[in-house]
Amino acid sequence: RFITLEGGEGAGKSTQVRRLAARLEAAGQRVTITREPGGAPGAEAIRHLLVTGDVARWTPKAEMLLHFAAREDHLSRTIRPALERGDWVICDRFVDSTMAYQGFAQGLGPELVNELKEIVIGDDMPGLTLILDLPVETGLARAGSRGQGAEDRYERMDLRFHETLRQAFETIAKNEPERCVMVDASQTEDEVAEAIWAEVKPRLS
Ligand code: C5P
Repeated sequence: RFITLEGGEGAGKSTQVRRLAARLEAAGQRVTITREPGGAPGAEAIRHLLVTGDVARWTPKAEMLLHFAAREDHLSRTIRPALERGDWVICDRFVDSTMAYQGFAQGLGPELVNELKEIVIGDDMPGLTLILDLPVETGLARAGSRGQGAEDRYERMDLRFHETLRQAFETIAKNEPERCVMVDASQTEDEVAEAIWAEVKPRLS
């Protein structure tokens, strides 16, 4: 019942989170929608420290630790309580983003991220992770056209950064095929929603 959506910039994650939630609700399910970084009051305060301001403010390691501090708050205050109530939890980004952005694209390496993952998340990993995959140029063009490029510091980084990210998500999917499903996000919004539903529907029963 814990599903995460992952992917680079402009992959359409937040739209698909809403569409999946609507579909589950239409099937009579209760759903908690949430996101990272953020998803609980303390975690949202940390998000503010991360996503606004100066590119050079944090070292990559400090940034990774802030993501995990936010995640601990988010798991304790939002995700676990929702799962205990019997809700589906659909989360826009989770630990695979920390692996891809801080671990691979910012060069910290997977070991450090995996250690923190074990400490903070333990057995509470998502049952299903949908990785929305599309060419970097397409994603950046989409992200730019929705007007988020200007204030989002990450979207100013070069193409190689985003190529590394894309490859990182692919590697994550390859390493954990039972949990991760790659979805071709260059399709139309409706087609992507259908592909996602095809993965989730069998888990209803
Ligand atoms: O999900 P969304 O794309 O809105 O994420 C907000 C920003 O935070 C993004 O630009 C993303 O690149 C960045 N981010 C990050 N490291 C993470 C999670 C998100 O750099 N672990």
